[in-house]
Amino acid sequence: MEISRPITELSGIGEKKAQLFKKIGIKSLMDLVTYYPITYERGIGLSKIQDIKPNGTYLIAGKILVSPISKRAGHIILTSTKLKDDTGELSLTWFNQPYLQKQLKEGQTITVMGKASYKYDKLQLTSPKIITKSDLAYFEDKGIIPIYPLTKGLSQKVIRLTVALALDVINKPIEDHIPATIRETYELENFEDAIYQIHYPKNEKALNHARKRLVFDEFLFFQLGLMLLKEEQVRIKNQYSFKSFKWYEHTLKSLPFTLTNAQNSVLDAIMKDMNGPYNMNRLIQGDVGSGKTVVAALAIILAAENGYQSVLMAPTEVLAKQHLQSIEEMFLSVDLKVGLLVGSMTKKEKMDMYQKIEAGLIDVIIGTHAVIQEGVVFKDLALVITDEQHRFGVLQREMLAGKGHYPHVLVMSGTPIPRTLGLILYGDMDVSVIDELPPGRKSIETFSVNATYRNRVQAFILKEIDAGRQCYIVCPMVEENEENELIDVLSYTEKLRVKLPPHIRIEYLHGQMRPKLKNETMERFAKGELDILVSTTVIEVGINVPNASLMVIEDAHRFGLAQLHQLRGRVGRGGNQSYCILISDSKSMLAKKRMAIMTESQDGFYIAQKDLEIRGHGDLLGLRQSGMPTFKIANIVEDLEILKQANIVAKTISEKRDILQEATYENFRKKLENYIETNMSYIAL
Ligand code: ADP
Ligand code: MG
Repeated sequence: MEISRPITELSGIGEKKAQLFKKIGIKSLMDLVTYYPITYERGIGLSKIQDIKPNGTYLIAGKILVSPISKRAGHIILTSTKLKDDTGELSLTWFNQPYLQKQLKEGQTITVMGKASYKYDKLQLTSPKIITKSDLAYFEDKGIIPIYPLTKGLSQKVIRLTVALALDVINKPIEDHIPATIRETYELENFEDAIYQIHYPKNEKALNHARKRLVFDEFLFFQLGLMLLKEEQVRIKNQYSFKSFKWYEHTLKSLPFTLTNAQNSVLDAIMKDMNGPYNMNRLIQGDVGSGKTVVAALAIILAAENGYQSVLMAPTEVLAKQHLQSIEEMFLSVDLKVGLLVGSMTKKEKMDMYQKIEAGLIDVIIGTHAVIQEGVVFKDLALVITDEQHRFGVLQREMLAGKGHYPHVLVMSGTPIPRTLGLILYGDMDVSVIDELPPGRKSIETFSVNATYRNRVQAFILKEIDAGRQCYIVCPMVEENEENELIDVLSYTEKLRVKLPPHIRIEYLHGQMRPKLKNETMERFAKGELDILVSTTVIEVGINVPNASLMVIEDAHRFGLAQLHQLRGRVGRGGNQSYCILISDSKSMLAKKRMAIMTESQDGFYIAQKDLEIRGHGDLLGLRQSGMPTFKIANIVEDLEILKQANIVAKTISEKRDILQEATYENFRKKLENYIETNMSYIAL
């Protein structure tokens, strides 16, 4: 069967299963065989009870001697039973799994795997895994067992069987899309072997080799895709000239503060770019609150006084409006014409704005995705700026640049990416870093507490409100969900309204609210008409309410570190001492470690680095939210060396583009085109 055929052509895959597979992105056989295991377990072969030694890990089959009993010891419920085979007896003990009492019955034959130890002179396995029949074959095999990421309704067994079936029926040889010369240079496994070995590794070495090849693929296409998308813009001759600096100088002098050294040097770089031989393609990275907006605004004013238009795109309406306001304030003394373009405007309002933009009556247009709509045509666009760029896909950013004739491009990011990584991930972009906060910022005192402190936290909230400040409370979920008891925004707000005195003004905010209501609520909070805003992470980006001094985050372990840092950055924006309280009842070591990192550091770069280091694969959602690109198999920290190699190859190919037309690159080119089409719009960089 052709590898491009849909999985429904496999026997046993009907519409219903196909739907489930579609949920995890699998439509074709190719999708299926490139659905990689998330981890592996090692089969160890069956042992007899008489051969067990303390500290070893064993796979044991036997009969349950007595139905399990549970007893409570403090916070812990101990469930235990005895297992017997033809050579002896063994105790089995589990913590906090009382349901096993129902699942396991006297006389039943089971297979368990776990670590052995002595307890009161008797051998036992502690918290052994119960191995299902379908898994048993693998574990008995002493092989390496693939563990796939699951979705509801699809079991390990089904995925394994389907992958095995697909590998069996696809036409061989599977064509390799990486030309042989590259494979030889970088000692890469061929694609067919890599695919087999990633699902059914014959040993650790083969697995590592297969993995390296597939990681390389992923990095290569990712980087090449980025480079090709950007190619149009880089090294293009500067189309614009900026001769007048009057407004620029005047505005710079009349700012209510002096720029930090870091802001000044970024501004220098921008000025050099805009007046240099090529057009600007620059990323500004700066921690939350480092003052990126004013730098962008100064570039806008320079464009405007030289007769050019600018556009600033932000991810939310609230943020766009806030930019509008602060830019208008900054430019009171000069005749800058500013326009707003956001989704909630009426059709007529939008049409009016379109006309003004096209006629050149507007110098700078500030808005959301609305600014990249078809109707928006500029008269003379010289500068495009994206704020909080990690919220946009690469394609959206390219669309924005496409609104002008090779305009200067500036993107701003509040998600610090570790430096070495940034250089590679951002391909050909020039990167500037604002690594300094404006003077006088007090550090945000951060505490990590468990839920027993909630009353005290509430007392503290009241104290801050009494002192005239405002407070954010962030919860992970929107609606109560039976599966987990996460505190949700709606019921949390209700409870808080009952509990706190009636004069405290509380509102909630979440992503599923109508945009109009969302904006109104946010604006009311910004104007000080609300004391407490209970919210999901929708308030994460950019918003600036200097009077807010307290950020309380419920179930804090549920968020990624980069995200917690962004959330914390919503306070500490005025002159008041500000606080961040992380509430978490998680007992996991990892959760505790993450909370500790938050309390010990306020440095976004440090936190981003730690975030990457302690993240395993499974946390794709968190990664996406933090603005990092996500990969199926590659890990940007652990696989940094492979990333560097793939970077060299990507550069070579993008510089000698004609090579893609050669016969040996035919498969490669097809794969690349397909990759760009299906992936690039989702990758947010
Ligand atoms: P971010 O980099 O997070 O986008 P903003 O541009 O929103 O930060 O700036 C945060 C706040 O700091 C704003 O209120 C801004 O007016 C203020 N600010 C910016 N630069 C300085 C400076 N050099 N000195 C004092 N305050 C500044
Ligand atoms: Mg900002």
